[in-house]
Amino acid sequence: MLLRDVTLPGSSAVTSLRLRDGVIAEIGPGLPAHAGEAVHEAGGALAIPGLWDHHVHVGQTAQGYARLDTAGIASVDEMLRHLHAALQQRGDGPDALVGFGHRLVDMAGEPTVAALDAVTGERRPVVLIGGDAHHAWMNSAALAGLGLAPRRGIVAEDEWFDAVAHLDDLPGVSRDLEAGVTRMQQDALARGVVGLTDMEWATNWRLWQGREARMRVRTATYASGLEAVPGPSGTPLGSDGLVTMGPLKVIADGSLGSRSAYCRHPYAFSGQPDAHPLGGGYGVLSEVAEDLVALLSRAAERGLGAAVHAIGDAAVGVVLDAFAAHGSAGRIEHAQLLADEDVARMAALGMRASVQPAHLLDDRDPTEEVWPEHAAESYRLRDLQDAGVALLMGSDSPVAPVDPWLAMAAAVHRSADAREAWFPAQQLQPAEALAASTDGVPALRVGGQADVVLLEEDVFAPVPCGADGLMLEQAAREAAARLRAVRPLATVVAGELAATRCA
Ligand SMILES: [Zn+2]
Repeated sequence: MLLRDVTLPGSSAVTSLRLRDGVIAEIGPGLPAHAGEAVHEAGGALAIPGLWDHHVHVGQTAQGYARLDTAGIASVDEMLRHLHAALQQRGDGPDALVGFGHRLVDMAGEPTVAALDAVTGERRPVVLIGGDAHHAWMNSAALAGLGLAPRRGIVAEDEWFDAVAHLDDLPGVSRDLEAGVTRMQQDALARGVVGLTDMEWATNWRLWQGREARMRVRTATYASGLEAVPGPSGTPLGSDGLVTMGPLKVIADGSLGSRSAYCRHPYAFSGQPDAHPLGGGYGVLSEVAEDLVALLSRAAERGLGAAVHAIGDAAVGVVLDAFAAHGSAGRIEHAQLLADEDVARMAALGMRASVQPAHLLDDRDPTEEVWPEHAAESYRLRDLQDAGVALLMGSDSPVAPVDPWLAMAAAVHRSADAREAWFPAQQLQPAEALAASTDGVPALRVGGQADVVLLEEDVFAPVPCGADGLMLEQAAREAAARLRAVRPLATVVAGELAATRCA
């Protein structure tokens, strides 16, 4: 394919890109179209390297597409109307409908099986899962399909936890999931995403062998699946080479939200140490982290790199000790809270930091609450960048959407609202955020993969700084707003047009 008349970041000169056999074969002005070659007239659009989301849970994200959204529904009557409309849209058929999101405390009226049956009929199973995931309101067909006894009301707690594991037994549920995977890919491609790392809790490599990949996918495995992997990291899993074996994923600690990220200092709870079940604790180190060196060795024997989830500063320290002892380098997922010495150690060991800048928008207030004296040590993107640690940006979708533009905007401005930037000393320049959102590709070049995104305008100009060396607040805010508003014109994966805005 010939991409005719593009501009490259930092230059106003118009040039063209020839893509052949999945790589960029030529870059230069006035390239002639060859016989039989597809030509895409880019009209001067900015051409940037394809974007990556380095941390996605594909299954959970896809379920979000497949499920009827019932969040915010305020009464049983409203739910029944919502459901009726959804069923009409889907037409007749035996396929189950799964909803997600309602909260019983917000919903007036009694959720009975009989009321659901009256709307759904007897044939099609309907499962409405509460937003807390601790209960579901089902009709008689769903109860029967899941082997549950008839009843008047909802299924909750342990009975529900047992039932949810068999949801796939209901007709159409796994097909809906696969339809969600397709839609997730379409949306990601429309945002310029050409690749992702799938961190789902599943045998991802096997699932992806049965899927149509429209973008590049690296399939992570967890330790339990290590012995069964089809080959080392990078092994192609299909004939087109888009899906490849990814890293071993390991979870070393918990999270900020559940106060379980493993820290060098105790959590603070607004002066009431007993106000939380884990109050005053240091978080938790997972069992597997205690024997991480052995696990890294088992992975290395199979040619797999490792991506280790560590959010608290103490967990990061333990993980770095393990990589140092093993003598290899890998990825730290999140690296949310970092001691000074560990920023330097990450650089010295050649570790990469897989970070999710959009989370800082949500974590800003909780961080100030539970780590008040250490908030400045969170999301140290600038410190990592300056130390020479390669940044890999992602979303951890469904925690945040698969949207690299949101991630880049958060990395640049570090504020989701009218407040000024949170720790502006850690801001990244737009071009740095872009580089961290690719697969380590700083610029399009001859011989590189033919993964290209076309944009209407250049939104990567440097943000001016003041005398203190920090970005000017208003300028950073505006730069982030421009990034958030980007809708790519076209996305090219492996030399093929995969999404276009003006189809
Ligand atoms: Zn994750």
